[in-house]
Amino acid sequence: MKDIIIIGAGTAGLTAAIYGQRAGLSCTVFEKYAPGGQIVNSPSIENYPGMFGVSGYDYSMALFEQAQKLGAEVQFAEVQNVDFSGKVKKVITSAGDFEAKAIIIANGAARRKIGCKGEDSFEGRGVSYCATCDGAFFRGKTVAVVGGGESAFEETEYLSEICDKVYLIHRRDVFNAAKTAVDSVLKKKNVTVLTNSVIEEIKGENAVSSIVLKNRANGSTAEIPLFAVFIAIGLVPENKLFSGVLKLDDYGYIDSGEDCLTDCKGVFAAGDTRKKQLRQLVTAASDGAAAATAAANYIRKNF
Ligand SMILES: Cc1cc2nc3c(=O)[nH]c(=O)nc-3n(C[C@H](O)[C@H](O)[C@H](O)COP(=O)(O)OP(=O)(O)OC[C@H]3O[C@@H](n4cnc5c(N)ncnc54)[C@H](O)[C@@H]3O)c2cc1C
Repeated sequence: MKDIIIIGAGTAGLTAAIYGQRAGLSCTVFEKYAPGGQIVNSPSIENYPGMFGVSGYDYSMALFEQAQKLGAEVQFAEVQNVDFSGKVKKVITSAGDFEAKAIIIANGAARRKIGCKGEDSFEGRGVSYCATCDGAFFRGKTVAVVGGGESAFEETEYLSEICDKVYLIHRRDVFNAAKTAVDSVLKKKNVTVLTNSVIEEIKGENAVSSIVLKNRANGSTAEIPLFAVFIAIGLVPENKLFSGVLKLDDYGYIDSGEDCLTDCKGVFAAGDTRKKQLRQLVTAASDGAAAATAAANYIRKNF
């Protein structure tokens, strides 16, 4: 039996493994795709303290190697089911069943997609799901933000400070964001709000150069030249596995605070998978450290 099983080898999971191993505990990380998680295909990271311009791939591999050098075991298998009912916790994976004294769930979240033509092929080349991460690459240029909620307004506000022009595109004519956020964006001279509108296609050659926009009210279409499309229509937590096992919030995130504790003793949640304000590498790393430390304290007291 391992001391800690960690679900997910993204920033939160691998940081948890680093802290767990350094606390003298044996950690096994299960990863269903590749180490690094969401960031692995990002061309450049500019907002992680102490690193500037490192590619998502290089960052992911460095983190992966660091965890392994400290003795963490990484198994490439999907966690398909869990049994947290006893003191010893069980995970059922595509590589068999495993037991541990504590579990850290670091399975991240997926960006919700709009599903239009060009969205997948231009990801990382003008299509982004994170203005804080990629906005600086489009300084002084024309960009669009898609969405009508809090995050779309935050992204628009942020981009309006660094970009020449920002289109805010929303499929409805009412917004789902705080009035203060809406009012602030509507006052911006370089922001144009296009309601009742959906992107039909994102076009370009090597990178994004325009979008085809359809007006849902009158059916007309127009092509708008721009350099980037920031899609801010939410994240999708992938926590069906834990529904009925752990308390989730209304959006499906694990209901856990900064201490990373869940409502099940011995089970901790770290990174984008848990309820939180800011989903970034630095907060995922912070959670990984907090969750492993909490798991180490739990194991010392209970085993
Ligand atoms: C395109 C893009 C660019 C970004 N750029 C930046 C940036 O520049 N700076 C920044 O701070 N943040 C950036 N972010 C956000 C950042 O990547 C996330 O906040 C961070 O990756 C969250 O880390 P995590 O470990 O919680 O989850 P994730 O990175 O999502 O990792 C979770 C891992 O768990 C695995 N997993 C899930 N379910 C299972 C299962 N059942 N069994 C086994 N494995 C499983 C997944 O395959 C994944 O590898 C970006 C995000 C995207 C999408």
